Amino acid sequence: MSSSTAIINIATLVTNDPSLGDGSPLGLIQDAALVIDGERVVWAGESSRAPATDNRLDAGGKAVLPGFVDSHSHLVFAGDRTAEFNARMSGRAYSAGGIRTTVAATRAASDAELEANLARHLAEALRQGTTTMETKSGYGLTVEDESRALRLAAAHTDEVTYLGAHIVAPELAEDPAAYVALVTGEMLDACAPHARWIDVFCEKGAFDGDQARAILTAGRAKGLHPRIHANQLSYGPGVQLAVELDAASADHCTHLTDADVDALASGDTVATLLPGAEFSTRAEWPNARRLLDAGATVALSTDCNPGSSYTSSVPFCVALAVRDMGMTPDEAVWAATAGGAAALRRTDVGRLTPGSRADLVLLDAPSHVHLAYRPGVPLVEGVWRAGVRVA
Ligand SMILES: [Zn+2]
Repeated sequence: MSSSTAIINIATLVTNDPSLGDGSPLGLIQDAALVIDGERVVWAGESSRAPATDNRLDAGGKAVLPGFVDSHSHLVFAGDRTAEFNARMSGRAYSAGGIRTTVAATRAASDAELEANLARHLAEALRQGTTTMETKSGYGLTVEDESRALRLAAAHTDEVTYLGAHIVAPELAEDPAAYVALVTGEMLDACAPHARWIDVFCEKGAFDGDQARAILTAGRAKGLHPRIHANQLSYGPGVQLAVELDAASADHCTHLTDADVDALASGDTVATLLPGAEFSTRAEWPNARRLLDAGATVALSTDCNPGSSYTSSVPFCVALAVRDMGMTPDEAVWAATAGGAAALRRTDVGRLTPGSRADLVLLDAPSHVHLAYRPGVPLVEGVWRAGVRVA
């Protein structure tokens, strides 16, 4: 039998339910209480009207918001790329192989090493408020190494993405068509049972629009739903392909034409922005303001990976989005919670309203605005997942 708990004396409660509180997209309630029963939220409203419960917890005049939903990461890997980052930030040329470096280290690692690394990064993210985290394969690039990565990931998260099409496997670099055949054939067959999503890096030097379409279409035929690494380093067909295929998300969206923006605004594909990547590569920021003004749904995610964005901190991404991408604090917090849920086509997480999963963050601050106002400060004081305090 579950017991109910009222969290009272919440200065600012972010519900992401516009039918509650101030009627904004964040559904803000001041002087709020939140009641959880078992793994679900059962009530949210003003503290003075909270129903009787078995237990009470005083939030001490701090803010509560939904746990972050990080819809894009690459956590099944071994090794790191410190030297590459150091060279890039020092203005020095660096000729090692980028993703290939991580592929070699990942292939050489044992299952236990990969799983320990994955679990360590998920725990690191959880301590920082991330209660739902998608993660991908993409550093194996063989049938066995990709299916192994997905099997390990599926033991730790429900949101698992097959990214055999990260780059062409080094041993088939001279024959990309053969690699696409592998990714859409034997590798897909081995990977599909462990994954929910299929992804492709649609970019010059990775996979072009036709290859991406073939890969995603093959995945869909095996029951996987598409998402795309699109328009990160250059203009290209990725975003429009994502909308055409009803991908849940087009990720990066850094280089967009007006037609790309229009496509995102008119479809159900979420534009997921990953500012950790631009930060860590000193690249041009994606323009969140342009997407929001056009009516697109925007998510914020970490892209946590050892090469181009080695951060697991959603609050850091929120701060970057507010400072450099034209988002208001409210928009950035929505994008990191409800937006991430939309990018994973989830309605049970990313909000705190009756029926939703009791995934929540208690901040050591009176409002969610402090996530951007106090960048780099560890404000996450408590984390609950499915009603259980986990950090
Ligand atoms: Zn990525």
